[in-house]
Amino acid sequence: MRADRSHARRVRVFALAMLISVAAQAQSLPSPLVWPHQARAAVSLAYDDALDSQLDIAVPALNRHGLKASFYLTLGSDTVRERMAEWREVAAQGHELGNHTLFHQCAGSAPDRGWVSADNDLDTTRATQLVAQVRVGNTLLQALDGRQERTFAAPCGDLRASGEPYLQALKADFVAMKSAFGGVVADMQTLDPYAVGVEVVSDTTGAQLIALVERAAAAGTMVNITFHGVGGDYLAVSRQAHEELLHHLASHRAIYWTDTFVNIMQYVKAQRIPQAHRSQ
Ligand SMILES: [Zn+2]
Repeated sequence: MRADRSHARRVRVFALAMLISVAAQAQSLPSPLVWPHQARAAVSLAYDDALDSQLDIAVPALNRHGLKASFYLTLGSDTVRERMAEWREVAAQGHELGNHTLFHQCAGSAPDRGWVSADNDLDTTRATQLVAQVRVGNTLLQALDGRQERTFAAPCGDLRASGEPYLQALKADFVAMKSAFGGVVADMQTLDPYAVGVEVVSDTTGAQLIALVERAAAAGTMVNITFHGVGGDYLAVSRQAHEELLHHLASHRAIYWTDTFVNIMQYVKAQRIPQAHRSQ
């Protein structure tokens, strides 16, 4: 009897020691971000440059599958002026209208930038002027959708205007920014909301698009896919490849939380703040 009791005590002490060591390990590791509905990955689908094929093909496909996405409008473009009622409708359907500047200035000095006009060369646009233009962009977007919180996508991923970094001055104007490359986020806890990477897809197959979101599910993080043309326009992905991705996302909703970038990043920021407080 006595031996049994001392054995039981040793087991209890061992179990307690294990518990303390597991708890200590848990405290030292950053807890992984838990997605809504226990999804394994967040998916942000983005459509840049305000193109006709987005209104004609991408939006109806998204709506048919009940998926939400972000549309980064170049506000000076013809489609914004000519199809304004349709862009308004896109916002009313729950999609995000994001800011992609007024004139889509990119650095003319970067490789393969022969298409950059002298008027829209980021190398000769003052940073303060660009910041002012982006803020006018937000005013125009608010006139379209009535919202004050939105995100930004840096044209061409260029970060300097006349050699000056310009995003820093705009952080307070946006929830988050797509301003880097690389679509699958490595770690949600250390992700800079103002330097989120994107995978720019073009001539990509449905299987390749699905492989991208599966990588994010395996990592338990998020993926940012940036489209331009869908079944038309430039840097296009075929209507069929786009449809295959949407079908995959819609038929695996338990795995993928597909939403607007503003919704996803508001959620990420809200989840991370209490954790930062706890660790202090
Ligand atoms: Zn663009």
